[in-house]
Amino acid sequence: MTDLKSMTPEELEAYFKELGQPGFRAMQVFRWLHRGVESFDGMTDLPKSLRERLKEACVLTAPQVERKQVSKLDGTIKYLWRLGDGNCVETVLMRHKHGNTVCVSSQAGCNMGCVFCASTLGGKVRDLTPAEILDQVIFTEKDSGEQVSNIVLMGIGEPLDNFDHVLRFLTLVNHPEGVNIGMRHISLSTCGLVKKIDKLAQLGLQLTLSVSLHAPDDETRSRLMPVNRSVGVEVLMETCRRYFETTGRRVSYEYAMIDGVNDSDGQADQLVRLLRGQPGHVNLIPLNEVAESPLKPSRRVRQFQRRLEEQGVTATVRRKLGSDIDASCGQLRRKRIMERETDTPEEGST
Ligand code: SAH
Repeated sequence: MTDLKSMTPEELEAYFKELGQPGFRAMQVFRWLHRGVESFDGMTDLPKSLRERLKEACVLTAPQVERKQVSKLDGTIKYLWRLGDGNCVETVLMRHKHGNTVCVSSQAGCNMGCVFCASTLGGKVRDLTPAEILDQVIFTEKDSGEQVSNIVLMGIGEPLDNFDHVLRFLTLVNHPEGVNIGMRHISLSTCGLVKKIDKLAQLGLQLTLSVSLHAPDDETRSRLMPVNRSVGVEVLMETCRRYFETTGRRVSYEYAMIDGVNDSDGQADQLVRLLRGQPGHVNLIPLNEVAESPLKPSRRVRQFQRRLEEQGVTATVRRKLGSDIDASCGQLRRKRIMERETDTPEEGST
């Protein structure tokens, strides 16, 4: 089955040309798809014969709301979407003064194994298609009635482990006839796949690269993030420096503050040394507690921030949004999976 929504306008043009359709058909269909039409019959200005043909040959993805939670505290909305094959992924809509940000997932599950993260507990099930990543933006806008102005690839999954689909998603979501979000309004977060960071740098996109650092030394980082065992902090930082030199875009570093693990003054000083010689920005994230993990949120976030700033490193503390609705990623999907696993089968039980 052909996935039209994952195609670029040029590919759509070639596809419809092959079907003997006029040139304008491609953009006509592109607009429908990017507006979140849910059936080919919904494309009302297409000839009936063509709609029938598309129904037979093409899939039309339209995620269903499996669960939706709205924060009473700040209006954050968290969606758990059910995809065509029954897999579920999360999307979060956050409201800020400067506009709405949507946080999208790039994979169903994750293989990276970071010990503090709920998304990776069951491993990766599969990559999302470009259409499935895009749908999270389109259907969040459609369901909430809110317009999205910023996108962060910080949901479930490792975006650079699904490189081609994520790249295609970026091209699609950037298109003026579609959702039309500028690259400068998009952030991509990675646990630090250095070869892929280099590959991304070559494309010179104007997006913001966020690197999940979480520790300034190999011992701590390898304990928290298995990805660090093959490529240590030093090589990661060299790669980030190269990224800045190639793209001219400052890298931002995420640092989840964990009690007694990565929050000492010594580690703040190490972090300062690590960032010396490159413009970077540190985003301190109060750890979200995950039921399956013994790690606790740090109580030294402000002291740590002050110590960085005193030594010339800009550091902000991420505001916690939607803390009443499991809004940190992976938790809702995880809950749903656990519920399914513990569901006792009705049949056969007496
Ligand atoms: N795989 C990508 C993007 C997904 S997670 C990455 O690793 O960057 C987005 C951010 O949330 C990452 O910085 C991740 O490390 C962080 N994160 C995951 N679990 C967390 C938790 N329990 N508390 C705080 N931050 C967490």
